[in-house]
Amino acid sequence: MRFYRPLRPLAALTFDLDDTLYDNRPVIKQTEQQSVAFLQRYHPGLRDFQAADFHRLRQELRQQEPEIYHDVTEWRWRAVHLALRRQGVSEAAAVSGADAAMHDFAHWRSQIDVPQATHDTLRALGERYPLVAITNGNADPAACGLAGYFQFVLRSGPDGRSKPYHDMYHQAAHRLGVAPRHILHVGDDLTTDVAGALRSGLQACWINDRQRSLMQADDSRLLPHIEISQLASLTALL
Ligand SMILES: [Mg+2]
Repeated sequence: MRFYRPLRPLAALTFDLDDTLYDNRPVIKQTEQQSVAFLQRYHPGLRDFQAADFHRLRQELRQQEPEIYHDVTEWRWRAVHLALRRQGVSEAAAVSGADAAMHDFAHWRSQIDVPQATHDTLRALGERYPLVAITNGNADPAACGLAGYFQFVLRSGPDGRSKPYHDMYHQAAHRLGVAPRHILHVGDDLTTDVAGALRSGLQACWINDRQRSLMQADDSRLLPHIEISQLASLTALL
């Protein structure tokens, strides 16, 4: 554990999910492949549909509606809906197809392998501090056995703009009844988690599990209070 700034007394912790509490990369890779395979099976006109086509549809939607990216689930639903409409299917059929695709997506997205050390660390921290999850993504803590550690979960889209915007950081503080400066936010991303939390008045812990150098990282803008290389180091705060 490396300290860059003096830590103020803690009253609560907030956590990013993906790549902070578990390795999200294998899940995303598998989920993206399965999403494309689902569409290829779902409609004959999409037999040759590829990840790049999905990407193009999403970018097209974002051009029409620049704020859509805050809600990744809605954004994905709309891309599937658009893909189906372009095949000439009815509105009702496109809606049910998009719903079915999201149902399939949720299944694959939940195949998260949470390390035992994450369970142990969250259980220990949760006995002393209220814990909250704040995510820009669409992982479901309930489906991977993490929901029980958190007072509540905030998601970009339904709960405001995505990190690094202050919406969810301030909402977490408000709902906890704790001043932002007494919250430590823990996350792997130097922009959304570290800079976002600091600019929102929280303290920040960067989890650097890939041996990056903070001084050489080109996405490093603000110094976190703490840097750790594994989540379990946080038990030193107890
Ligand atoms: Mg993350």
